[in-house]
Amino acid sequence: MEIKRGIAVSPGVAIGPALVLDTEGFRIPQRFVAPAEVAAEVGRLRQALAEAVRDTRAQQETISAKLGPQYGAIFAAHIFLLTDPSLLRDVETLIADQLFAAEYAVSRVMRRHAKTLESLEGGHFASRITDVFDLEKRLLGSLLGQRRENLQHLSAAVIVLAHDLSPSETASLDTAHVHGFATEAGGRTSHTAIVAGVLEIPAVVGLGTFVTDVSGGDVAIVDGNRGLLILTPDEETLERYELTRSSFRRFESSLVELRALPAVTQDGAQIGLMGNIEFPQEGEHCLDRGADGVGLYRTEFLYLNKREDPTEAEHFEAYLHVVRTLGAGRPVVIRTLDLGADKFQPRTEKLGQERNPFLGLRSVRLCLRNLTLFKTQLRAILRASAFGDVRLMFPMISTLLEVRQCKMILAEVKEDLEDEGIAFNASLPVGTMIEVPSAAILAAELAREVDFFSIGTNDLVQYTLAADRNNEAVAYLYSAGDPAVLRLIDGVIKAAHKQGVAVNVCGEMSGDPQYTLLLLGLGIRQLSLTPHNIPEIKRLIRSVTLEEAVATAREAMRLETARDVNNYLREQTRRILPEVFG
Ligand code: PEP
Ligand code: MG
Repeated sequence: MEIKRGIAVSPGVAIGPALVLDTEGFRIPQRFVAPAEVAAEVGRLRQALAEAVRDTRAQQETISAKLGPQYGAIFAAHIFLLTDPSLLRDVETLIADQLFAAEYAVSRVMRRHAKTLESLEGGHFASRITDVFDLEKRLLGSLLGQRRENLQHLSAAVIVLAHDLSPSETASLDTAHVHGFATEAGGRTSHTAIVAGVLEIPAVVGLGTFVTDVSGGDVAIVDGNRGLLILTPDEETLERYELTRSSFRRFESSLVELRALPAVTQDGAQIGLMGNIEFPQEGEHCLDRGADGVGLYRTEFLYLNKREDPTEAEHFEAYLHVVRTLGAGRPVVIRTLDLGADKFQPRTEKLGQERNPFLGLRSVRLCLRNLTLFKTQLRAILRASAFGDVRLMFPMISTLLEVRQCKMILAEVKEDLEDEGIAFNASLPVGTMIEVPSAAILAAELAREVDFFSIGTNDLVQYTLAADRNNEAVAYLYSAGDPAVLRLIDGVIKAAHKQGVAVNVCGEMSGDPQYTLLLLGLGIRQLSLTPHNIPEIKRLIRSVTLEEAVATAREAMRLETARDVNNYLREQTRRILPEVFG
């Protein structure tokens, strides 16, 4: 049994056979053969080995001719490994004795071999380990041939284990069969993590290297509550986790009864709980979880699986769907395209390779440069505003001029629609995300420009601490509880209140019970979060008094490190609702 610790990004427990994706994204199936097929399977193996030797020799010759024999010699080690009789013997034994299919047997033997090399002291064999994986890939490629299976067409329950998954790969997972996933890379608020929450499948990211230790079909447990991945668990652990899985399901269904109850503190303060959505169909999730509206609609997901930029009609149709689903009395905050960096790329804009895309031409900067793209979306949002309580929000605003420019473009689009006689809400509320430190610092000035603020803590944390939200190596720095972040948030709330501008928090922080008391205590009265987390946060809100929240926030603001803040907040939260962290 092996236990790996990573970052919990979507709660729940999943248990099942591993579906391992290597870095090239193809899976190594755990397949067995009938006793009568053993000879044929061994034949397949020998053929693959012979092919691999032939290809490697050819490569050796080409490279030697091009670059000189010393470079060609790199391949000699591969040929040595491929022709090692013990390799053939070990794989053949697994096929004959355990009835493993050739690819499964190859993967098992190669990974065992790599582990032995890894365990040798001094790390002298690091390059040999890379050789072993290169060869595994080569052999699997040849054995699997056309049999590469598509993740979207699974027929049995699996736990997906991968180095990384892009947001679109994650969004395309077949949730009927993928019961959980775990990745080596990724951070707390990476988009893959956000999509896992949307799909409501247990997930852990940022685990560091582990994919090479697993073979397809090994039993894996993803503990999305505690951020653990357990490989080949022993009997006792498996039993314990089966119980945890059932009790978590019971806990989830116990939350359903909260749906119709208001999010009101013990001393009567009403808190708005809005849903964050990525896809139009998620409007229903918001209703299911008792959301008061949609506080953040991330429209860049319209780019998923698209070759072209979405048309005005496509934008409009998506927005109308959400507005109609939510119905009267529930606002829908539509955020303009937040493309670039870790998100989707526009199709019309030919972007060069940016050295630092997170600080580059992305999001609202990109929209202001590509006015056709921007105006197309603004037209659709305005048109949708004729059908319900639509509000508009700009992402990544970093200067005052930027927000003024956006408003100017909006005014132009309104004029166009008026000229064309197309209906829209002339007093559509306009807000801005506060997710760049400069915007937080200039909150007092920005508050004069807009009707509402939404604090995007996912980006605010990364830009304040200069810690990439997707990079597990700096995840230790990335914390919404960092005093520097808290001071910015506090300043934004004060500026908003002074100006009479509504303020909401829509980063992942708002769905994390650890921060609920703090945010209420700082003066937040509206949170926007993954719909799945609404009932739990509501339960917590209903258990506290505003007085307790204010006292908690006051104490938290005096602490000097993220660790102290987070420990203190957890303790306070646990005191009020002991079962909150499961
Ligand atoms: C944020 O940055 O906090 C946010 C809500 O936006 P996104 O996660 O889409 O960047
Ligand atoms: Mg953001």
